[in-house]
Amino acid sequence: MEEDITHSSSGTDSQDESIHELYDEDADQQDAMWMAERHPDTTDAVLSCPGCFTQICFVCQHHSRFPGQYRALSTEHCSVRPDTYAFGKAGLMVPSSTGEFRLVVCAECGTKVGVIDHNNVYHLFHVLASSS
Ligand SMILES: [Zn+2]
Repeated sequence: MEEDITHSSSGTDSQDESIHELYDEDADQQDAMWMAERHPDTTDAVLSCPGCFTQICFVCQHHSRFPGQYRALSTEHCSVRPDTYAFGKAGLMVPSSTGEFRLVVCAECGTKVGVIDHNNVYHLFHVLASSS
């Protein structure tokens, strides 16, 4: 019995520079709420690019459950790329053509620092934080 299955090696050649961080979906739902509740003028840390140490965020909120994750409504020296991301396996951010999140990179050196969602909330998790 022979099956002529042409080996398809085409598929998902994922450019595997995905942003690996702890991230899960229901957390995102909950996090939508703190933005409404919190005063935006309080900050937990000043965030810097891990690649060039440019300070990219002065007002952010530390995630209560995930160390190293921050939410922000605005950033400095960052640019939003058209690349879209979505939750992949294990809640990791992975490149996805149907993703709701767009990639955010440091405008100075291009390091991927996080994503921005459809509510224009930045999710920054590849950053250096210094609490002043
Ligand atoms: Zn940078």
